[in-house]
Amino acid sequence: MKDNEKVAIVTGAARGIGLEITRQLLSMGMTVVAVDLRQDLLDALPAALGESAGKLQCRALDVTDSAGVTAMIDEVAEKHGHLDVLVNNAGITRDGLLLRMEDADWELVLKVNLSSAFFGIRSAAKHMIRQRSGSIINMSSYSGLEGNRGQANYSASKAGLLGLTKTTAKELAGKNVRCNAVAPGFIKTEMTDVLPQQAKDIALELIPLKRFGLPCDIANAVAFLASEASGYITGQVLSVDGGMHT
Ligand code: NAD
Repeated sequence: MKDNEKVAIVTGAARGIGLEITRQLLSMGMTVVAVDLRQDLLDALPAALGESAGKLQCRALDVTDSAGVTAMIDEVAEKHGHLDVLVNNAGITRDGLLLRMEDADWELVLKVNLSSAFFGIRSAAKHMIRQRSGSIINMSSYSGLEGNRGQANYSASKAGLLGLTKTTAKELAGKNVRCNAVAPGFIKTEMTDVLPQQAKDIALELIPLKRFGLPCDIANAVAFLASEASGYITGQVLSVDGGMHT
């Protein structure tokens, strides 16, 4: 399938990294279904994307709703006759030191960041196996590779995504369905804007390339993994972090 004929679903697409991924995939000519919890942000998406929004479709959905995710994926695949790319990007943080972390914060982060990807993959895989092609991309994190103080829940969810990625890759490779993960470092978005300046200064010191990443840095990596150019790559974790994880 040519890249400009592909149909992609991107979760957490209404702002930040997901918005840039949506922009990139649209610029490659793909039809993109932008999924997000926030209807208000989705309403603003066509204007934010300008001329490239032609093949954009928006869908308000909480990705922790297993039945809702399945129904959405089936509907997209049936409407277009195929589903070629799934980007599991939706994610949240509920930071706090391990000893004080509430059960609710542990469970919510695991559900939004990890369980949602499982729901999406399980549903998308049925369609991709049938058509004998597909690319699934999971948004992990440097925190999932290395751990991070104050992020026991988040790091565990992002490390879990790596196991899910590798298992999915092994189970589906025989059907020409690929699954890879991207592990961003510190990227300038609203998720990281809220961090105290001192935490940002410490983070910058750790980055060999001496700058924070931009959402487009991550979108470029996702676009590659979604494209035919990466057709022989599966089960991999692509760090996009200015050289922190080597
Ligand atoms: P962001 O908070 O700016 O955007 C996340 C989007 O996901 C929002 O639009 C939000 O509405 C949506 N979302 C949240 N919960 C949802 C749910 N239950 N259902 C549907 N949509 C939901 O975050 P970002 O910085 O753009 O991060 C995107 C992804 O990249 C996340 O998975 C995040 O963990 C990962 N990541 C970010 C960084 C960083 O430095 N920003 C670093 C590593 C990994």
